[in-house]
Amino acid sequence: MTPDEIINTALEKEQRSWLITGVAGFIGSNLLETLLRLDQNVVGLDNLATGFQRNLDEVESLVLPAQWSRFKFINGDIRNLDDCKQACDGVEIVLHQAALGSVPRSVVDPISTNATNIDGFLNMLIAARDTNQGAGVRRFVYAASSSTYGDQEDLPKMEDLIGRPMSPYAVTKYVNELYAGVFARSYRMPTIGLRYFNVFGPRQDPAGAYAAVIPRWIASMVNGEPVIINGDGQTSRDFCYIENTVQANLLAALSNDPQTLDQIYNVAVGHRTSLNELFAMIKDTLMPQFAHLANCVPQYQAFRSGDVRHSLASIEKARSLLGYQPHFQLNDGLKKAMPWYLNI
Ligand code: NAD
Repeated sequence: MTPDEIINTALEKEQRSWLITGVAGFIGSNLLETLLRLDQNVVGLDNLATGFQRNLDEVESLVLPAQWSRFKFINGDIRNLDDCKQACDGVEIVLHQAALGSVPRSVVDPISTNATNIDGFLNMLIAARDTNQGAGVRRFVYAASSSTYGDQEDLPKMEDLIGRPMSPYAVTKYVNELYAGVFARSYRMPTIGLRYFNVFGPRQDPAGAYAAVIPRWIASMVNGEPVIINGDGQTSRDFCYIENTVQANLLAALSNDPQTLDQIYNVAVGHRTSLNELFAMIKDTLMPQFAHLANCVPQYQAFRSGDVRHSLASIEKARSLLGYQPHFQLNDGLKKAMPWYLNI
């Protein structure tokens, strides 16, 4: 069966109750849109630290009113255990996305990153364990990160071989994996961690000091502002379009195979693109509409503290155990997301 068939067959049979933390963020709001389109019941938890009400409004405009009525939003904070308990009440499947993202943010302010990403994560595990009269949730899927590979240089990155973390953010994401493993072993909590590699797509914030590279560069090119490359441009990443990431979450949430549990999976495409190549691809995609880009060249700056040099995932584990098949390569994703980037 294709991934879509696996997901549709599982959800046609049964309407499930889901919790998405970080629902007003980039990945959370895309998960929300997909689940509502599949007629699921969804609770969303977010404190709007880096997410936006406008993301929720956009999802509302994209789904049917009957689908939107199956969504309940809680404006709350994962650092508060009571908020987590309220959000988990009656929920079967948790997709835990809430976190303070960004390596540089964590280098500037490790305490805030730690509080949300570790204390908040532990609160969510406790709340998910204790809900449903102590029976707990059926599945706890959480956003892990490729930053956990740290200074381990072998490519492609395989799940079992990690190095030393290069940033406070990477520490927090690794601690998430450790805690999830302990909850799986100590309390039989069915957890799955998804190590995302540079996700991009609609509703990813292009603004602010900690914006991700793709939306930031598109905004800079369109506005005729300088495009900054940190380092020599040979730094590479495995860029993953959001629809691939959503697919991996739903497969992880719905898998019936006990072998798939208490595991970590890379979620990427399995292809590496340098920043110089990415610059050229975005420029080529925009050039037909923005003639001023003909003379656009990047400005190179110093390497950024905490960044890893190269990133490329092996996606064999997710493919073989979860049935993951990324449908979108970088170029497909850029073309699909571009109308959204140009509309904001
Ligand atoms: P995002 O910033 O758009 O979304 C995170 C959401 O969490 C935001 O809506 C924010 O308001 C919310 N949040 C933050 N602190 C909170 C708190 N204390 N309580 C409740 N909500 C809180 O980021 P994203 O790109 O959608 O990332 C989602 C998850 O994926 C994060 O865990 C991130 O670490 C992880 N991740 C993302 C990428 C990527 O490339 N985008 C890569 C690796 C891992």
